[in-house]
Amino acid sequence: MPMFVQTGSAAATEEPARLLSSPISQIYHDIENHDINDTDEIHASSFSYSNLRQSHSRVNTVIYPPKDQIPDVNSPQVKAWVAEIDWSKVPNIPVAPGLQEIPHFPQCPPDDQLDLSTCWWSCAGCVAESDVVTCPNKNTWGLTYDDGPSLASRDMMYYLKEKNLTATFFIVGSRVLEYPDILKEEVAQGHHIAMHTWSHSGLTTLTNHQIVAEIKWSEKIIRDVTGLTMKYVRPPYGDIDNRVREILRQMGYTIVIWSAGWDTNDWRMLQNQIQEWEIVKSFESHLGTRDNITSSVGKPGGPVTLEHDLTNATVSLSKRLIPMAMEKGLTPMNLAHCLSDITPYQHGSKLGSNGALEKVTDGEGKGSFRGMPGMEEQDFKSTLTNSATTMTTATVFWWGILGLALLTSTTLGL
Ligand SMILES: [Zn+2]
Repeated sequence: MPMFVQTGSAAATEEPARLLSSPISQIYHDIENHDINDTDEIHASSFSYSNLRQSHSRVNTVIYPPKDQIPDVNSPQVKAWVAEIDWSKVPNIPVAPGLQEIPHFPQCPPDDQLDLSTCWWSCAGCVAESDVVTCPNKNTWGLTYDDGPSLASRDMMYYLKEKNLTATFFIVGSRVLEYPDILKEEVAQGHHIAMHTWSHSGLTTLTNHQIVAEIKWSEKIIRDVTGLTMKYVRPPYGDIDNRVREILRQMGYTIVIWSAGWDTNDWRMLQNQIQEWEIVKSFESHLGTRDNITSSVGKPGGPVTLEHDLTNATVSLSKRLIPMAMEKGLTPMNLAHCLSDITPYQHGSKLGSNGALEKVTDGEGKGSFRGMPGMEEQDFKSTLTNSATTMTTATVFWWGILGLALLTSTTLGL
């Protein structure tokens, strides 16, 4: 049985790496959040959610790598994690070059120089059999949001709770340093939490050891805050090849990308490259093609979309797309529900009967907790600390990066 399936033509024409989610989205995310509120105290911005606590837990930042940077691979922790991998099974595929302007955004070689055997999704549109790109059942919709937690995540959660829906949030470890409480609230409300690396770098541009560091540090901070060990991972920009796949597989991860053509491109709104109405129109026409989606076993399936809980703009867009799709018969749900995966974490939780996630004792002394829509968050003995260490805003740094990014975005066509 071939291990990988080439589906390059459809995916490559619709979502080549040059058109994938931009690292700039992450930058906007930081800046917008700090513009809303430049302190660690969270205030409601444009919505009211009385159930959410206003207090803000702090993470002991000293024990984690600096945010938004690829973690040091020479630390004892990373060396120990690296030693757990059987490197003889990892394909010897060269580390991909990054763009000069944005170093860890993958630079695709010319088409005639592409090695298709590496199954590089972001440059060749190759999907492995084990990659999740669709929901297996017709009219189901895998609702996913990337790059949080952010302040906008709360508004998203508020809306989903109103609709009695749950989603999968792909979490960036660096954001957990800033908003641990929002991550906890996502878990408390029965949402499914998954991995989106530490610094949001293109994984094919990283060395083997850097990939391990990216995943394991993010895994650790999410586990420290929630007691849950992730099982699903979405590589930033969908940037994955067989080398990255094998490393992630050995760390216990299932890879999720998204359905070809179902990237909402919401991140482009943040760069004024597209208007909300254009996305709504495009989404509506895609809804008409949903019957063409086939699952991994060749039966009619449902889409897995790509959205971002980054800003009020992307959240507001999502609030328009959800009712539109539901009216056409799609049922939004988190990925665990869409995949009928009753054990959607490596440790610590199970799929509840209503499709929301329930936290259970995971054998690691984390206590028990049931997170269901409508229930208040409870103390589940996370290892959050109240360290006096405060988080830095890094505003100056990010404005500098934004300038560089804006300068290059036109050239790159991102
Ligand atoms: Zn992302």
